[in-house]
Amino acid sequence: MNRKIQKLDETVVNRIAAGEIVVRPCAAIKELVENSLDAGAHTIQIHVKQGGLKSIEIRDDGCGISKIDLPLVCQRFATSKLKNFDDLYHLNTYGFRGEALASLSYAGHVKIISKIPESPCAYICEYEDEKIRPSTSIKPCAGTNGTLIIIEDLFYNNPIRLKMMKSASEEYTKMVDCVMKMALRNTHVSFSLKRDTQIESDVHTNGKETTTILQNMKMLYGADMTKDMYETIINTDDTPYKFQCKAYFTGTQYSCSSKTSSNSMTFILFINGRLVDCQPLKKSIQQMYAVLVNKQTSPFVYIDLIMDPTTLDVNIHPSKNEVRFLHADPIIVTIVQAIERIIVEKSAKQTTTTTQ
Ligand code: ADP
Ligand code: MG
Repeated sequence: MNRKIQKLDETVVNRIAAGEIVVRPCAAIKELVENSLDAGAHTIQIHVKQGGLKSIEIRDDGCGISKIDLPLVCQRFATSKLKNFDDLYHLNTYGFRGEALASLSYAGHVKIISKIPESPCAYICEYEDEKIRPSTSIKPCAGTNGTLIIIEDLFYNNPIRLKMMKSASEEYTKMVDCVMKMALRNTHVSFSLKRDTQIESDVHTNGKETTTILQNMKMLYGADMTKDMYETIINTDDTPYKFQCKAYFTGTQYSCSSKTSSNSMTFILFINGRLVDCQPLKKSIQQMYAVLVNKQTSPFVYIDLIMDPTTLDVNIHPSKNEVRFLHADPIIVTIVQAIERIIVEKSAKQTTTTTQ
């Protein structure tokens, strides 16, 4: 074997990095939705073909991208959201790495049509490997305020990744799950997600100023679930690990027929507005339910956690799906105990009423 060390070609490096961010079509959707939310959109319409592998189109009515920024949007580490490293601890945007669109331009064919309110027209631009596609240029076109991003032929240059995608419908199911969760919390934004030639949306929310989480929950997950649903608010100002938590969770009477996953807990966690995974918290809640309720039921748990950004590390992985935070153990115990207390209380009341 030739052991000579060589620096990898830049395109190879970027393609490898892109593979970590755009793991599958659903990851692309999450990044694109986050960009639309960062742009202040009130309407986000998504249309995908063949589970996103043929195309993903996402249209928003956000701030738009100006003509002079169009050459930069797909460049790696180019962002309008972060300037200094310290900004990481005071982020009020989902994005900060400037990598999503760059990665998408390595993983598929990207087209952006965008209009800022100050401009009389929209501009269209196509991208390949971070750059404007050779022999094309930024052109004026018709369009409304906001941005339309089209990703076609995802993984066209990565046959192994393409083979790993089991089926278009499985990819689509993952997308529905992810968009439902993001739509649920962002009550002020109207979401719609459609596939292929379908006319009806699979995910739809109204996005009115007055829409509540509970209304969105009914709309997205069905009214049945909210019949045995409880709520708790935790505020721990007097401990060294300050946090606020709002949780909605089903009780012992609820038996779910989830649209997206069968016989497993639906666990939705937002930390400082970010849809994330936290396995230790999920496991503790699962164990708590396992003791309290029948194994056949699939609880639904929604947790919205707000904590001091300086105790939170969001920069664990380029996909930003995971976060770590200080004082994780006491925070998890406090949340699980608060939920458990209410479930026990409510189920005791239900038992007394039914036995009377
Ligand atoms: P990041 O979100 O980390 O900044 P992205 O690659 O996702 O990186 O996006 C790069 C830049 O493109 C953003 O910083 C933003 O300025 C611009 N952008 C992307 N999507 C949109 C959108 N839907 N509306 C307005 N601007 C956008
Ligand atoms: Mg982004």
